Amino acid sequence: MSKRDYYEVLGVSRDASQEEIKKAYRKLARKYHPDVNPGDKEAEKRFKEIKEAYEVLSNSEKRARYDQFGHAGMGDEGGFGGFGGAHDFGGFEDIFDMFFGGGFGGSRAQRHQGPQRGADLKTELEITFEEAAFGAEKEITVPRLETCRQCGGSGAQPGTHPETCPVCHGTGQIRISPKTPFGMFQTVKTCHNCHGEGTVIKTPCRECGGKGRVRRERKIEVKVPPGVDTGSRLRVAAGGESGINGGPPGDLYVFIKVKPHRHFKRDGNNVIYELPITFTQAALGCDIEVPTLDGKITFTIPEGTQTGTTFRLRGKGIPKLQGYGRGDQLVKVEVITPTNLTEKQKQLLREFDKTCTKKNHQPKEKSFFKKVKDAFMG
Ligand SMILES: [Zn+2]
Ligand SMILES: [Zn+2]
Repeated sequence: MSKRDYYEVLGVSRDASQEEIKKAYRKLARKYHPDVNPGDKEAEKRFKEIKEAYEVLSNSEKRARYDQFGHAGMGDEGGFGGFGGAHDFGGFEDIFDMFFGGGFGGSRAQRHQGPQRGADLKTELEITFEEAAFGAEKEITVPRLETCRQCGGSGAQPGTHPETCPVCHGTGQIRISPKTPFGMFQTVKTCHNCHGEGTVIKTPCRECGGKGRVRRERKIEVKVPPGVDTGSRLRVAAGGESGINGGPPGDLYVFIKVKPHRHFKRDGNNVIYELPITFTQAALGCDIEVPTLDGKITFTIPEGTQTGTTFRLRGKGIPKLQGYGRGDQLVKVEVITPTNLTEKQKQLLREFDKTCTKKNHQPKEKSFFKKVKDAFMG
């Protein structure tokens, strides 16, 4: 069997652009697609020919080889053998997508008969600040559709079987010929009687009402890794709904929400802690207890500390989700000006003030940016 020239098959010139080739292919594929011409052997042959020509001419490398060597350059001289049997067409849905950008809605045939993957589920999990930092194992309850144990998913009452649909004779599809702006041609629709299943259930399973799946509250263990934050997404493989007709289950996606902490705020992997101190503590320096994720530590405030000064406790922050090490804890000092002073206290402060010189009111370090000091702790 000698092959026709690919350019001739698509009806384009040898110097046709990719756009012209695509356009010609679409037009011809629509005309000769086997789903549009059921049982027409000639159309089927043409369709294969068109598809083969397009596969070569739409690929610049293959096209160049074809231009140079003709069919001999394709390494496939056995007729159309390289393109498989009669079922090796692109699905009709694919062709439809190509023509109408997938927007053809209801007239696309849905095939329900094969195994279908179960739906993915998503849920939210609220955890504490500490659980987010160090990880946790949590049990969550997820309502989901699971295969009915009574009928094993068939939907038929045990002892009975689903029967072939009399409307579509088991194909799950019916053919119709709607008028479209592109002309009239045949298309397939999901069978209304069996909803594409190809079978009908005469005696539905009492447990699931014939649906084959039942809704159950399922407890699922979730391992929360250290370092997660609000918005982190965990995937529990096969934690979603059961598949249909033996299809695999979907996955469960767990979205993390971290509860606010009474002491700490979070900035990436750093923990921010605001530490109020008196102005005496700030002026004279002091040892003070500071909470960290690892428990309380004693921390030395040096004398002459200004309000807004931030000290860094290295490695006291949140473990890094991807990788090693931890962030830091930032201790931000806020000096509290004393209020409700007694007359005696006021007098003492006035006395104190009289002894002050200009030197006493010079901050040790001046900066527009709040300085972060390293406190070599932990
Ligand atoms: Zn059932
Ligand atoms: Zn049917």
